[in-house]
Amino acid sequence: SQQSDDVTLDDLPLREDLRGKSPYGAPQLDVPVRLNTNENPYPPPPELVDDVTEAVREVAAQLHRYPDRDAVALREDLAAYLTSSVGIEVTSRHVWAANGSNEVLQQILQAFGGPGRTALGFEPSYSMHPIISAGTRTDWVPAPRRGDFSLDAAEAARIVGDRKPDVVFVTSPNNPTGGSIPLAELDAVLQAAPGIVVVDEAYAEFSSQPSALELLPRYPSKLIVSRTMSKAFAFAGGRLGYLAASPAVVDALQLVRLPYHLSLLTQAAARAALRHADATLASVATLASERDRVADALRGLGFEPVSSDANFILFGRFADPSATWKSYVGKGVLIRDIGIDGHLRVTIGTPDENDAFLEASKEVGR
Ligand code: PMP
Repeated sequence: SQQSDDVTLDDLPLREDLRGKSPYGAPQLDVPVRLNTNENPYPPPPELVDDVTEAVREVAAQLHRYPDRDAVALREDLAAYLTSSVGIEVTSRHVWAANGSNEVLQQILQAFGGPGRTALGFEPSYSMHPIISAGTRTDWVPAPRRGDFSLDAAEAARIVGDRKPDVVFVTSPNNPTGGSIPLAELDAVLQAAPGIVVVDEAYAEFSSQPSALELLPRYPSKLIVSRTMSKAFAFAGGRLGYLAASPAVVDALQLVRLPYHLSLLTQAAARAALRHADATLASVATLASERDRVADALRGLGFEPVSSDANFILFGRFADPSATWKSYVGKGVLIRDIGIDGHLRVTIGTPDENDAFLEASKEVGR
């Protein structure tokens, strides 16, 4: 008889559209300098670690009970953070949270996408957008960016008006290219969109552009702004993403969310981390100036960095990016090959890590 280890995907009644696919994910390699997944390189300060530990210890006594299904206290804290940092008044009713913004995006597509519906994005952008679309059986419509990776808003609005997607993704700052979209240009896309427009602001704290949240009063039935604690907040391991939108959007997502999706531990830890937002976000200015230093240094070495508003830089040009990526790994520096012709992406690390990256850059092949 067949042993369980001998069963392959081909033996399983897998959905046809998932056959032959590989799982998403950057290689997790144990090398000294890890600059490949756009995390904050600074570990949480000791006060934050203590506060998270204490908060988790307190709630551990209630682990026999399900957590608050609506995570109201956490959503209140996130709303207070958005209100004070963006300057637009939002309440817990405007905010929804899940295990990373990937789960938020998945819930959005479960509610507003799905079979017979379409989602559109401007490529190259965050590759999970089409993957989550596929997972929810939402047809993906790729639309182009300019050759310099910026978004041509007039052309974007024309395509959106023409294709009438149920969901439009605009990533700002865009991953992996780093540029932000000005609000006036986003406004043009929102005007043309017949359905939902998700502005993925995972890297918003690093950007000099205002948040799309400023447009919520004008587009209350279209706009969703997605955020995460994984980047500037230095909480990638905690898995906490969130969104701001009209309360009706939150009602819609409650139709598809799994009950108790945010554990007691996650809610307590995220709230404790948020209490230290000022300390955590103090690294943003350092990372932004390091980003500019690294970009200048790369240019000085003869590379072509793409202008970035985020905590990473896309840079070229390489005849064989995957060979160059390997030679960086050989020098103990892990960056990202995102499959863009001639380019690689590096996350901004600590000054020492950035120096190690720049040192390696002098020696890798082009
Ligand atoms: N959106 C963008 C643009 C991202 O780059 C990422 C992380 N790479 C995410 C969303 C998802 O991050 P998380 O699930 O950790 O919030």
